[in-house]
Amino acid sequence: MAQLSERKINYKHKIKDYRGFDPVVNRSIQKQKTALKGKVIIHINSTPEGGGVAELLVSQVALEQSLGLNSHWFYVEASSEFFRVTKKIHNLLQGMRGQLTRLEQKIYLDTNRKFAELLARVAGHLKPDIIVIHDPQPLPIIDSFSEKSKLILRLHIDLSEPNQWMINFLKPYLVNYGRVIVSGQDFVSVLPKYIRRRTTVILPAIDPLSEKNLPMGRQRAEQIMKKLGLHPSRPCVSQVSRFDPWKDPSGALDVYLLAKKELPDLQLVLAGIIHAKDDPQAWSVLEKVRRRVQGHPGIFLFWDQGQIRPYSIDTFISAVFTASSVIIQRSIKEGFGLTITEAMWKAKPIIGNNAHGVRLQIQDGKNGIIAANRSKAAQALIKLVKNTKLNRRIGRAAQASVRKNFLLPRFILDNLRVYKKLT
Ligand code: UDP
Repeated sequence: MAQLSERKINYKHKIKDYRGFDPVVNRSIQKQKTALKGKVIIHINSTPEGGGVAELLVSQVALEQSLGLNSHWFYVEASSEFFRVTKKIHNLLQGMRGQLTRLEQKIYLDTNRKFAELLARVAGHLKPDIIVIHDPQPLPIIDSFSEKSKLILRLHIDLSEPNQWMINFLKPYLVNYGRVIVSGQDFVSVLPKYIRRRTTVILPAIDPLSEKNLPMGRQRAEQIMKKLGLHPSRPCVSQVSRFDPWKDPSGALDVYLLAKKELPDLQLVLAGIIHAKDDPQAWSVLEKVRRRVQGHPGIFLFWDQGQIRPYSIDTFISAVFTASSVIIQRSIKEGFGLTITEAMWKAKPIIGNNAHGVRLQIQDGKNGIIAANRSKAAQALIKLVKNTKLNRRIGRAAQASVRKNFLLPRFILDNLRVYKKLT
């Protein structure tokens, strides 16, 4: 089974709605758009929903369309075997030891060959000016395309210490891309030399007008969390992330259990609604955490959309961030971490681990805390729950830094500049 399906977007906002955030960026976007009017852009990723890439693409593709670009978003569908292999590739690129077996290599390449046939049909019809491939799942799909200049590879993952075997395996496919985009400068140096020259760094961003990121009143957030079983007058700490070994939900649990010794009323939310088809590892990670939390009344795990009914995922996530006193992000590896940006935008102090994407966003002690081990994270958590003045000061600084650096219009502008160079 291999399919390429179009994800249609129904999003109401246009670029002019974002003028108030940064008029200078908006004007630059207006300047860039003329040269790109009518250009056909095809984005391809591996899931229509769930995770940061899909989150970004909803707003990115909609805004590109509103600017007059003819942008489309397709996602690949394949067997669970294929996604098991691509999750392993993701893990190897983030630094896991090992390599693909012969069979795994075959599954990956054969499925991508089928995707390539489907893409050739789509491309014959849409005649793209640019094709953007997101992340390693469909990376070899462009193997047979001759016009390299049109092809962009957008890698969203943490490439700070990749498995060299995996990089070598992907080299023949990486060569086919006219441009590679990564989320941080540190990820450039690990790429083969001839690819480094064609690599651009674009920091991701959040959409301040999406439902998830709009301000929510504290009272409403508390009402929602109360309905979902939490005690509104007790403090709450949360980690919002897929159940993934790199996000280390178990580590978040350890931090909570340490802090609870001093803050007996403290509650914990671990939110990772499982809906991304490309992440088959989530269930086993969830199961391990679930076993550990049995018999702890102050801990709330959310993994299924049925648990948060009648609320949408966006309303739920917005309520979790708003109702929490502190957010933790124990990621061991993190390409960027939109959940960090989302929490900061809600003016929450966040305690992050010392991972690349966390450091891209948090300046320790100013707009958040970086705690390299669990006991430091627990100490910071206790301090931030007890000291409301400090909590507010860091939260406000966090929000200001997102306003300055990590909002959607800047991200759109950075991408338009790359498109313009390629066309
Ligand atoms: N998210 C969600 N429901 C959840 C947990 C996360 O919708 O239960 C969203 C989260 O708000 C963010 C995205 O999924 O927009 C995760 O992006 P991030 O870059 O943090 O991590 P990724 O999953 O892409 O590694």
